[in-house]
Amino acid sequence: MNNKVKMQFLSIPENVGLARVAIAALAGQAPFSLSEIDEIKVAVSEAVSNAIIHGYQARSDGWIEMTATLDGQGLSVVIEDFGVGIADIEQARQPSFSSDPERMGLGFVFMESFMHGLRVESTVGKGTRIEMQRFARIQGALSRDVQ
Ligand code: ATP
Ligand code: MG
Repeated sequence: MNNKVKMQFLSIPENVGLARVAIAALAGQAPFSLSEIDEIKVAVSEAVSNAIIHGYQARSDGWIEMTATLDGQGLSVVIEDFGVGIADIEQARQPSFSSDPERMGLGFVFMESFMHGLRVESTVGKGTRIEMQRFARIQGALSRDVQ
């Protein structure tokens, strides 16, 4: 199954739910189980929440882009914001690191543990691009291991 979806939405908390529903509907077109789809939804929620909370610092007029691609391997999702950016990506990805003392600093941990690949690119003052992959299972094996 090959498919590709591009969405742009405003940086308001309501759109976390919109992104979750959209990614679940797309992932449902591939051989993902319900629990795998739940994990993909969590990873996407964390990335979109970060774009809203940190990237746009809760401003409601920022654009977030989500591009999701389904192919024979599985699902790839790119979530991009044009907000403040991340100065130190390595530090930001550390478990329990948060620039906000009120938060747990677990968003990247969830993205990493629920997906098979996570790439973070960011430029201060320009924004942040998160790319995540989830391989589908084909006859019990992960698609990346099946030739
Ligand atoms: P939690 O996700 O548990 O509520 P958190 O958002 O602080 O807490 P992470 O999602 O792991 O934790 O992100 C770690 C840190 O990376 C954030 O505190 C923030 O400083 C930075 N960060 C993450 N995403 C972005 C983004 N899109 N733009 C700017 N900074 C970001
Ligand atoms: Mg977070």
